[in-house]
Amino acid sequence: MDHFRYQDNRLHCEQVPLDQIAASVGTPFYCYSRATLERHFDIFRNAFAAVDHLICYSVKANSSLAILDLLARRGSGFDIVSGGELERVKRIDCPGNRVVYSGVGKSAAEIQAALDHDILMFNVESHGELLRINHLAGRMGRRAPIALRINPDVDPATHPYISTGLRRNKFGIPHTRALELYRLAATLEHVTPIGLDCHIGSQLTTLEPFVDALKRVKHLITELRHVGISLKYLDLGGGLGIPYDAQQIPPHPERYAQALLNELDGLDITLILEPGRVIVGNAGILVASVEYIKDGEEKRFIITDAGMNDLLRPALYDAHHTILPVMRRFDREEILADVVGPICETGDFLAKDRILPEFNPGELLAVRSAGAYGFSMSSNYNTRPRAAEVMVSEDRFTVVRPRETIQQLMEHEILFS
Ligand SMILES: *Cc1c(COP(=O)(O)O)cnc(C)c1O
Repeated sequence: MDHFRYQDNRLHCEQVPLDQIAASVGTPFYCYSRATLERHFDIFRNAFAAVDHLICYSVKANSSLAILDLLARRGSGFDIVSGGELERVKRIDCPGNRVVYSGVGKSAAEIQAALDHDILMFNVESHGELLRINHLAGRMGRRAPIALRINPDVDPATHPYISTGLRRNKFGIPHTRALELYRLAATLEHVTPIGLDCHIGSQLTTLEPFVDALKRVKHLITELRHVGISLKYLDLGGGLGIPYDAQQIPPHPERYAQALLNELDGLDITLILEPGRVIVGNAGILVASVEYIKDGEEKRFIITDAGMNDLLRPALYDAHHTILPVMRRFDREEILADVVGPICETGDFLAKDRILPEFNPGELLAVRSAGAYGFSMSSNYNTRPRAAEVMVSEDRFTVVRPRETIQQLMEHEILFS
């Protein structure tokens, strides 16, 4: 359920017509619905209400400060993957004890900054990282709380670029080596093993891979207790998918939670969850204008002012996003078309081979489910300023990030002399 609906054939975000926002901020822009965002967070959190848990929203899904702030006010913690994301959560005054830090390539400077902010734990992804954290914490006269990110070698059956829990992926520590590395961690002077972490991929549409992964790590936690390493936290990562189209409907967060809680039964541990997409994905859309209609030999191209630099998912993952006209009419023909951007790349499309209503130049269209990995993956390719971001609450909208200017893009560049 989201709050992007037609009222009188005008697409609205909550009570604000999208064409009204377009008239005020121009296109393309991302539009977020506060009520949808908060509803998704609440549903997810309530699903885990029966157990001790901490929800650490995955900042990389959408790192807009306005979104982080709304989630923090609802009690969310954060999963970060860079020093830049750490600065973002500091900017919204999130205390360190609600921050976990994931990622295979944490630099020395990033580790120090996270130690300085007293984060809850580092999700450690290699032997080398474990030793580096120990060394840096020692130099700062500190002890770093850590979890090892375990790669359980289960197939999440998602797009290869967003599967992370297979043996061949770069992420985590092979589950066969986990015991040995925990034993090493327990002997190090400046780290304390307090948790175990496991994130197997993104946009998962079935529960089995989550349950299989949990079985593997549960076994490990028991084994660790036998050798005197008692963990306080089990971080199960993120990855629950959202419905991008009607074909594949992922399980509801309540079913997801139930499956995990059944499997956990009896294990005395605090859960950490790192949802990203499921919180923010359907809380945002991208609104663009049609620039041209071009008839190719085989199909029609709807050329918009939003491209792969604004929304990379179709180009990168061949992802499906539903396209809707902002002004709905019932007298239109339906045609086979590609929706493409202005960028000089064949991969620059928002939709391919889609049956769509006939659009006219100058019309507005909306790309649904663009709240996650939309703006946060956008770039300046082709020297295109990044889109504006707008937050809607009820009958009010606020520009939470103005459109970049071309001047800003070149501001720090220097000619060679
Ligand atoms: C990307 C990521 C997430 C969030 O994944 P979603 O599919 O958006 O829920 C959580 N944890 C880690 C470690 C990640 O890399």
